[in-house]
Amino acid sequence: MVDKKNFSFKILSQDKKSLARAGIIHTRSGKIETPYLVPVATRGFIISLTPKDYKKLKIQALLANTYHLHFMPPGDEEIKKAGGLHKTMQFSKPIFTDSGGFQALSLGIGRQRNMRKLGFFPKDREISQEENNESFAEMTPEGIMFTSTYNKEKRFISPKKSMEIQSNLNSDIIMAFDQCNCAGDTKKETLEAMNRSHLWEIESLTHHNKSQALYGIIHGGAFPDLRKKSTRFIKSKDFEGIAVGGSLGKTKSDMYSLLSIIMQDLHEDKRPRHMLGIGWVDDIFECVSLGMDTFDCVEMTRIARHRSVYISPESGGSKINHFKTRVNQTNFSTSKKIDKLCKCPTCKKFNRKQFYELYLKDRRLFNHYATMHNIFFMATLMECIRKSIKQGKFQQLKKKWLKD
Ligand SMILES: [Zn+2]
Repeated sequence: MVDKKNFSFKILSQDKKSLARAGIIHTRSGKIETPYLVPVATRGFIISLTPKDYKKLKIQALLANTYHLHFMPPGDEEIKKAGGLHKTMQFSKPIFTDSGGFQALSLGIGRQRNMRKLGFFPKDREISQEENNESFAEMTPEGIMFTSTYNKEKRFISPKKSMEIQSNLNSDIIMAFDQCNCAGDTKKETLEAMNRSHLWEIESLTHHNKSQALYGIIHGGAFPDLRKKSTRFIKSKDFEGIAVGGSLGKTKSDMYSLLSIIMQDLHEDKRPRHMLGIGWVDDIFECVSLGMDTFDCVEMTRIARHRSVYISPESGGSKINHFKTRVNQTNFSTSKKIDKLCKCPTCKKFNRKQFYELYLKDRRLFNHYATMHNIFFMATLMECIRKSIKQGKFQQLKKKWLKD
């Protein structure tokens, strides 16, 4: 286990009607108040922002991507020479890194089957049986042979290598190396991937830099019995935290029911829990209710670049529109506020009409301000969730947002 001075977790309050809890993760780079949604800085930066902007957005931690930082120049060894990721990212607060295992899906089998996203699929989306796309990741029992998407160079990543890369990056919270399964995988395929992940995760435990906090990842895809088995396995090992990864079925309700099954075995465990790749507003409320502490998701930055901004229920946000609105002539023609409650730098500077004009005039600047709003909006929502749990008002807040 990691020394307590480098990593610890304290639960401060527990909701009486659900598993929702508020706590603090202490890392060697500072604290993270939970629940918290970690913005993703895939290649070591958030697209459209500068490190100076981070300070204005209540950012407590960032998540960077091991695959990209290893393959993309200058590479993790150069990052180490430069003093680690905190230095190169100009970010002194806690940094999470994933293990690179997810890219076996997004660049390998998921790419071939045209299924690049984890979690659920929209109901109307059928799984493509055409396996025509090029694969950049080949699985072997010992690890993954990647073909770099940057220069086509082949490099093998084993659990030990993933730990070495993450050690070079010197992030605070690291993920065990795993094999992500696809939502369309059969039970046999999912079981094989789970067993392999378990072996790799144990290997990760042996080889990881002991000053970094290592999270184990629960797998088992959409199969309740496999999820149960994986939960018991990961729970019994000396990881500092526990993450939930892989496919969680095809619908949101599949995801919530699988998480409930996981929590039957995990609800008394005192370690922090991270939900990989999930971050929509309704999912956050439901998964916090089911006892999750941290999340990461590219959604808030991605939708900003696709002209969508988050809005609260006071401004018409709902489960139906996913709490977002498109910046277009119809929605942004008046001098109304972008969001009635938001106090971010964007909302202070522009009304709706001005923001749409900015979109027409300067796309780069628009992306910048839309990203600022979305990150600040979600940070504020997480702050409200934490506060509501501490004040015994989480259920009211959830009802106000989700109206169920
Ligand atoms: Zn705003």
